[in-house]
Amino acid sequence: PTSKLPHIGTTIFTKMSQLAHEHQAINLSQGFPNYSPDPVLLEEVFKALQNGKNQYAPLQGIFSLRKTLCQKLNTLYGSNYQPETNITLTAGATQAIFTAISAFIKAEDEVIVFKPAYDCYEPAIELYGGKPVLIQMQAPSYKIDWEEVAAKISSKTKMIIINSPHNPSGKILQKKDLEQLQQLVENTNIFILSDEVYEHLVYDDQQHYSVARFPKLAERSFITYSFGKTFHVTGWKLGYCVAPKAMMKEFNKVHQYNVFCVNHPMQVAINNYLQEEKHYMQLGDFYQQKRDYFLSLIKESRLEFTPSEGTYFQAASYKNISQEKDTDFALRLIQEKGLATIPISVFNKNKQDDHMLRFCFAKKDETLKAAAKIINTL
Ligand code: PMP
Ligand code: GLN
Repeated sequence: PTSKLPHIGTTIFTKMSQLAHEHQAINLSQGFPNYSPDPVLLEEVFKALQNGKNQYAPLQGIFSLRKTLCQKLNTLYGSNYQPETNITLTAGATQAIFTAISAFIKAEDEVIVFKPAYDCYEPAIELYGGKPVLIQMQAPSYKIDWEEVAAKISSKTKMIIINSPHNPSGKILQKKDLEQLQQLVENTNIFILSDEVYEHLVYDDQQHYSVARFPKLAERSFITYSFGKTFHVTGWKLGYCVAPKAMMKEFNKVHQYNVFCVNHPMQVAINNYLQEEKHYMQLGDFYQQKRDYFLSLIKESRLEFTPSEGTYFQAASYKNISQEKDTDFALRLIQEKGLATIPISVFNKNKQDDHMLRFCFAKKDETLKAAAKIINTL
C-alpha cells in the first residue's frame, strides 16, 4: 500500500527502550518514572472501579474533573477557563495534540515547529497535508530566535507550536519569549499550540510561563497537559486540552469520532486526588531533588551540561568523550556499557548533530547511582 508517512519509522522511544531491554541496560532513555504512583491515588482508582464508574464517560470528560482542572488553571495562571466549554479530557497529551492539529490543519497550511521538537507534532501536521516550517534552536542554549520566526511567518502560517518546559533540552521559555510571540501573532489568524505537559516540573525558583497567563495568546491557543507526568502514571494515557470555546467546539467534533471519551474510573480517581493541592504543588521540589542528586553524581564526569531548568530530562554534551555521531554513540553506550539514553539529533532539523544526549532522571536513586557509575567511566 502507498504510505501516507513514507519517511516515518518507529519512534526513538520504542527503539531505545527495546534495545535497553535486549541488552539489560539501565534505561534513562524513554521518559517514564520507574517508581510507583502515590498509594492514595491507587486507592482512589480501586474505589472508582468498585463504585461502578465502569461505563462511558461524557464526551468531554466528567464534569467534576473539568471543573477542578479549570479552577486549578485559573488559580495558577489567572485565566478564565470554564468547565462547560473550554476543556476536554484526552488519551494523554498525544491525543490532545493530534486532535488539535487535525481539527484545523488543511493541505498547504504551514505550521512553525521549533527543533529539536518532541516527535509527535510533524507527522500529525503532514497527515493532514500541512507543511511543518522548521526553526532550529541552537545547542546548548536552545533559545528561540524571534527574528527568524518573524521572517518565517507567511500568509500560509496557520499555527505555531511551542513546548515549555522543553523536551528534550530541559529549557524553559521566559516571559519575554511569550511577549515576543504575542507581538508576532497580534492581528493575525495564527493559532498557537502550547504543549505544557511539564508545567509543574520547573526548578530553581523559576516560573512556568503558561500561555494561559497572556490573554492575547490564550485567545488563540490550545494548551495540552498530561497526568502521566504529574502523577507518575505515563501508562494511564490521560491528559487534557483547553482552548477558547470556538476552538474547543471544532476540537470536540474530531474527538467524538476518534475516541469519543476517555477512561472513566481514572478520571474519578484523579478528580478526588486533585482536591489536595500538595499532590501537584510538591512535584517541582521532588524532581529538583532528583535532578540535583543525578548531577551531583556526574559532576566529575566528562559530560558537559548546564542544569535542566524544567522537565525530567537532562541534556548533556559528550564532545569531550567522543566525536562519534550521537546515534552511534548512544548505540555503543547501550551495547558496550549498558546505559540507554536518547540521541538528540533525532529531534533536530536535518538531524543536526551537536553531540548531545538526553538523560531521563525520573528514576529511583539507586538507578541514577548505577547510571552515574557508568557515566563516570566514560
Ligand atoms: N509532549 C511532550 C513534550 C512529551 O514529552 C510527551 C511525552 N512524555 C507528550 C507530549 C505526550 O504525553 P502523553 O504521554 O500524555 O501522551
Ligand atoms: N515523552 C516521552 C519521552 O520523551 C516518551 C513518550 C513516548 O514513548 N512516546 O521520552
